[in-house]
Amino acid sequence: MKKNDLYSKEETFFQSKNKIYSAQSVKQIVYSTDIRDFGQVAKSIPCQDACPAKTNIPGYIRAVFEKRYGRAYELNRSANILPGVLGRICARPCESSCRHGETDNGQSVGICHLKRSCADLKPSSHRIIEGLYTPTEKKVAVIGSGPAGLAAAHDLSILGHKVVIFEGMDKPGGMLMYGIPEFRLPRDLLMLEIQNILRLGIQLKTNTAIGSDISFAQLKKEYDAVVVATGCVSPRKFDIPGGNLENVYNGLDFMKAVNEGENPFVGDKVIVIGAGFTAVDCARSAIRLGALDVSINIRKTIEYMRIDETEKYEAQFEGIKTYSLIQPSRIIEDNNKVTGIEFQRTRMEKIDKPPYRVSIPIENSQFSVPTDSVIAALGQSPDMSIISKKPDGMDGVFAAGDFVTGSSDVISAIAGGRKCAGKIDEYLVGKKRKRTVVRLENHATTDRQRSYDFIGKVVMNTIDMEKRLSKSTREVETGYNEDQTHEEAKRCYLCNLKYEIDPLVCIYCSACIDVAPKDCIKMIGNIPVNPDGTYGIYEETDDWNQVLSIAIDNAECIRCGQCLAVCPMDCISVTKTELIEIDT
Ligand SMILES: Cc1cc2nc3c(=O)[nH]c(=O)nc-3n(C[C@H](O)[C@H](O)[C@H](O)COP(=O)(O)OP(=O)(O)OC[C@H]3O[C@@H](n4cnc5c(N)ncnc54)[C@H](O)[C@@H]3O)c2cc1C
Ligand code: SF4
Ligand code: SF4
Ligand code: SF4
Repeated sequence: MKKNDLYSKEETFFQSKNKIYSAQSVKQIVYSTDIRDFGQVAKSIPCQDACPAKTNIPGYIRAVFEKRYGRAYELNRSANILPGVLGRICARPCESSCRHGETDNGQSVGICHLKRSCADLKPSSHRIIEGLYTPTEKKVAVIGSGPAGLAAAHDLSILGHKVVIFEGMDKPGGMLMYGIPEFRLPRDLLMLEIQNILRLGIQLKTNTAIGSDISFAQLKKEYDAVVVATGCVSPRKFDIPGGNLENVYNGLDFMKAVNEGENPFVGDKVIVIGAGFTAVDCARSAIRLGALDVSINIRKTIEYMRIDETEKYEAQFEGIKTYSLIQPSRIIEDNNKVTGIEFQRTRMEKIDKPPYRVSIPIENSQFSVPTDSVIAALGQSPDMSIISKKPDGMDGVFAAGDFVTGSSDVISAIAGGRKCAGKIDEYLVGKKRKRTVVRLENHATTDRQRSYDFIGKVVMNTIDMEKRLSKSTREVETGYNEDQTHEEAKRCYLCNLKYEIDPLVCIYCSACIDVAPKDCIKMIGNIPVNPDGTYGIYEETDDWNQVLSIAIDNAECIRCGQCLAVCPMDCISVTKTELIEIDT
C-alpha cells in the first residue's frame, strides 16, 4: 500500500471486507491516489477513459436507470458543462470504446442518447448547485465564447476569479451557434445551457472582437490572465481554378449563413467536397434549401470520414450520395457561373508514418459532372493574427480548444478549456487547488441482472422526411422516451463496479468459474511485479496444480452477478470506483 493514500486501505477496507459486505450496513469509503487504482479505473472503464472530459459514464447511466435524472444531469455537467448539447452532437469517442460494442457483446451502449435523456427528463424544478470558492479579486479575460472559452470561464468563475468573455459575434456559442445546424442542435437549449454557465457571474461582451475592437495588448494590460479560445475560424483555401467563383462556397461561411437564417443559393444539384462534420452539415442543409441532388465527395474511402455513424446514416436517409476516391481539379464555368466540376480519381496508398494511408491522384483520370453550386468544406485553421507570439511564450496568456489542437470536436474543446482553467488558477494563486483521486466505496448489490445482456440497442426516434423538409430548423432526433431510456440504461455493464475475489477466503471450488458467462475469472499462475511496484500482466494457467490464485478480470466482467450468487464462501466483493476531484 502506498503512503500517499488519503486513508489507509488496510484499515478501512480490506480487513473488514467480508463482514461489512454481508452486513450491508456500513459504507466504507476510501480515497486513493495509488497509481494501480488509476490504472484499474482506466482499464476497466474504457468509455470514461476515452472521454476527453473523463465523464463518469457508468455513474450517470446508473442514476438514469434509477430515474434520478437531475442527479444524472449533474454528474454529467460536473465534467462536461453542456450535457443537453453534448447529448445531441457529441463526437462520442466513448461509444467507440464501450465494452458492449466489443466482439460478441453486441452494440455499444447509447451513451450519448442517455446523456440527452438526462437533460430531457430532469424535473423542471431541478436546480444546479455549484461549490463556489472565495472571490480572489483576480481578473481573467476569455477571448471566444465557444465550448472551450465557456468551459474555461465556468471553472475559473467557480474558483472565485472575475471572468469576462469577449466574443466577436453577435451571439455566444462559437461553432455551436454558427457551425452546427439547428436541426441537430436547438438554439433555445443551447442558450439555456450557456445561461447556466453565465449565471455564475461571468460577464459576456458580444460584438467585441479582440484585434479590431480592443487590442490584445490592452486586454493583457487590464487582466491578470488571458485565455485565447478563438477556435479555428479561417477556412482552408479552395485552391483550384474557379475556386473563387460565385456559387462556390466555403463550408464555414455557408453554415454561418444558414444559421443566421439566410437562404444561400444552391440550385438543384450541389457538390460538397470534404469528409468531416462540416461537409455533412452543408449537404444536409442544402437538401433543406431545396436541392434535389446532393453529393458528398471524398478523396479517401467512407471509413475515413471523421463523423459518427449516425450522421452518415442520416445523410444517406435524406438522399445524399457519397462518392469516394475522387478529388476536385477544376470548376467549370459559363459567364462566371458554375456549371460543373472536374474531378480526378485517386487511389489509396500505404505509407510508413501517420496517417499511414494516403490518397494519391491517378494520372489522366479526369472526368466532369454538371452542378449548380459547390461547397468546399476542407477544414479550417486558427487565426493567429490577434496575438504576436504563441500563447505559451507570453506570461499570463493561455490557450484552449480548437485554437490549440486544430479543428477537433466539442468535448475535446471543453476538456481543453477546463484543463486550461486549472493551469490559470495555479498561475494566479500560486498553488494547485484541486486534484483527482479514485473514490472506492463498498457496494452491497450487483446492480445488474443477467437478462439485461440480451437487450438490443434502443434506436433513437427521428422525424420523417416530410417534417424535415417542411421546417428546415426542426430537430431531427426527438430523444428517447422514459421507457426507452430505462431500457437502454439497463444495457450498461456498469464497468465502474470492481469485482474481487479474496484469495485468503476462497477455497478454489471453481463454482464461480463454472457459472461465468465469459472468460472473466482467470486462474493465475504468476503475478509479475513491475520495477515501479505496480503489478504486471498476470500469467494465466489452466493447470489447477499451478494455480496461485483466481482473479476476476474486470475488463471482461459484465457484472452479471452470477459468481456472487454461487460462491459458498461469500468471498467475492463489489467496490464502486469513481474518479473525483477534491480540494488539495
Ligand atoms: C459545421 C460544423 C459542425 C460541427 N459538428 C460537430 C459535431 O457534431 N460534434 C462535435 O463534437 N464537434 C463538431 N464540430 C466541431 C466543434 O464545433 C468545434 O471543435 C468546437 O466548437 C471548438 O470549440 P472552440 O471553443 O475551441 O472554438 P469555436 O467553437 O470555434 O469558438 C471560438 C469562438 O471565438 C470567437 N472568436 C474568434 N476570434 C475572435 C476574436 N478575435 N475576438 C473575439 N472572439 C473571437 C468566435 O467567434 C467563436 O465564437 C463542428 C464544427 C463545424 C464547423
Ligand atoms: S458498458 Fe457502460 S460502463 Fe462499460 S464501457 Fe460501455 S458505457 Fe462504459
Ligand atoms: S459478475 Fe462474476 S460471473 Fe458475472 S461476468 Fe463478472 S466475474 Fe463473471
Ligand atoms: S465460488 Fe467462491 S470459493 Fe469457489 S472458487 Fe469462486 S471465489 Fe473461490
